Amino acid sequence: MTVDLVITNVNLATATENGQPYGAIEDAALAVHKGKIHWLGPKAQAPTATLLLDAKNAWLTPGLIDCHTHLIFGGNRAHEFEWRQQGVSYTEIANRGGGIKSTVTATRAASDEALLAAAQTRLDALMAEGVTSIEIKSGYGLSLEQELRLLRLARELAQANGVTLCTTLLAAHALPPEFHCKDAYIDHIVADILPAAAHAGLADAVDVFCEGVGFTPAQCERVFAAAKALGLPVKGHVEQLSNLHGSALVAAFDGLSVDHIEYLVEADIARLKTAGTTAVLLPAAFYFLRETQRPPIQALREAGVPMAVATDCNPGTAPQASLLTAMNQACVLFGLTPEESFLGATTHAARALGLSQKGTLAPGQDADLLLWHIQSPAELSYGINLVKPARRWVAGAEQ
Ligand SMILES: [Zn+2]
Repeated sequence: MTVDLVITNVNLATATENGQPYGAIEDAALAVHKGKIHWLGPKAQAPTATLLLDAKNAWLTPGLIDCHTHLIFGGNRAHEFEWRQQGVSYTEIANRGGGIKSTVTATRAASDEALLAAAQTRLDALMAEGVTSIEIKSGYGLSLEQELRLLRLARELAQANGVTLCTTLLAAHALPPEFHCKDAYIDHIVADILPAAAHAGLADAVDVFCEGVGFTPAQCERVFAAAKALGLPVKGHVEQLSNLHGSALVAAFDGLSVDHIEYLVEADIARLKTAGTTAVLLPAAFYFLRETQRPPIQALREAGVPMAVATDCNPGTAPQASLLTAMNQACVLFGLTPEESFLGATTHAARALGLSQKGTLAPGQDADLLLWHIQSPAELSYGINLVKPARRWVAGAEQ
């Protein structure tokens, strides 16, 4: 048969376990047909193709996957950053109306068009460095109507840009100004927001902020139980600022991922392994908040828990629209190897989103591909703003 496309004279970083670092196959070829990877292997054995591309020894990787973002929000928090750097205390910043609440106010006040235009700038930056799949959370609406609006806008944004999207309902992000009791707001999420998002088909997963300044494990458990009853997978912002054993809770619900996990403890790592939950590292927030407690990387490594890396792109704690920078930060700040960072933004990020057809180069996988003029895949994690993919394909179509 004749396939649609063969890319030859190419080095493949397959992100699969083939015994080589990066799952590399050097001096190879890869065939694409009907949007899927059809074949890969020694270039002399490549099938005939309608279009033959000589990659001249460049590297081909899977499309990058940003598996944790809060991409859609109104305004920004640059003024709070200014106050912080001038020495104003967190309490005083909160008293001046700062924090998540200021973003909720700005998001609610913004038109659909304004929210989409602002998010487009951030998505453009991510796409330019190779992101082909992304997760976008709600969480700055905090009402039924506003949370569903954010999820709907996320779908619109992804469709207009040809990226694969996973939406996550994060209604349990903070207490909205209309509520004074966290339990009463959780009642509202469970009874109203979650069922509405599920029935509208707007949420692919459900997330919580399990933290002293967020919600208790008991409150998060109620959200997870409701999600499970609706057939939605769960994940959690857990163990970022303290250890509340939110990770164990996520694992008990066979959750997709635990995210942040700076304060994750050994006993809960074993639970993640058993549950098949992915550990999502968010070094941009660690960097921006000047945290000092690093996630237990060595213990996760030894336990064989897959580690993903994401931007956490948000206005308050991670104003960063660069996954390659997050990969660099995961190496420099958390001690990952460049190979671990690479797997973290490809195969393990796919796993964190339940996207089994993405994140690796293998026959049958979606042909989301990036071509890089680099000498080694380590260059993806090595620098900041040094490399960009030269060409990109999504489902076999060049973008
Ligand atoms: Zn987050």
